[in-house]
Amino acid sequence: MNNLIQISDCHIDECERSMGVNTHQNLEAIIEKITTMEVDALLISGDLSHHGCAQSYQILKKILRPIESKIFVLAGNHDDNHNLEHVFSENLFKSFCLGSWEIINIDSVQVGKTSGYLSEIALSELGYLLAKSNAKYVLVVLHHPIVPMNSTWDDDLSLENPEALFEVLGKYPKVQAVMFGHAHEANEFEKYGLKIIACPSTAKQFNFETRIGFNHYQLHDNGKMDARTQWI
Ligand SMILES: [Zn+2]
Repeated sequence: MNNLIQISDCHIDECERSMGVNTHQNLEAIIEKITTMEVDALLISGDLSHHGCAQSYQILKKILRPIESKIFVLAGNHDDNHNLEHVFSENLFKSFCLGSWEIINIDSVQVGKTSGYLSEIALSELGYLLAKSNAKYVLVVLHHPIVPMNSTWDDDLSLENPEALFEVLGKYPKVQAVMFGHAHEANEFEKYGLKIIACPSTAKQFNFETRIGFNHYQLHDNGKMDARTQWI
């Protein structure tokens, strides 16, 4: 069994406060909690930074220092690819394996837009990775929500073409779940037999929830997956 932790939407800025909260302190509290747990990999699903400035990634790297497991990151709409790559080049990924599981990233960010879109290139790359995967089970991760959130979240800011994603995933029954951030809320859905999981923000939720949190996945070798949100 492997333990995968997902954190999302850290929104670290040069100054400690963004969106009315201390994002540095909040992330430090989350990291402190994670260091007490057994962790095989830490996944950060976008919006690492609030404004994408170079210094924010340096600050984030420092806050992540207590994490001993491998860290995998993907960009969100608030991130600056150049500055992110400069500090986190070793952590950017297309896919990685954990036991019988493979975690595949698909890039949904559109430059200068809040909503997401999967390009033909991104979709065919996903198809390629799924076709050549030797893993028994696959998780797909992206920044943007792929289903209506049934909440106060404005679904117009989510992925614009989720059906294109479901069309690819439908060809590969080994895909068990899709995870994302962006909406700053914890939620779980099911569609076409897939688990669809929203990860809360480490900084601030956009709904009624006043706590900060992260998601913990236990990936069993028989394909069973236990997902739960840990609140602080
Ligand atoms: Zn965000």
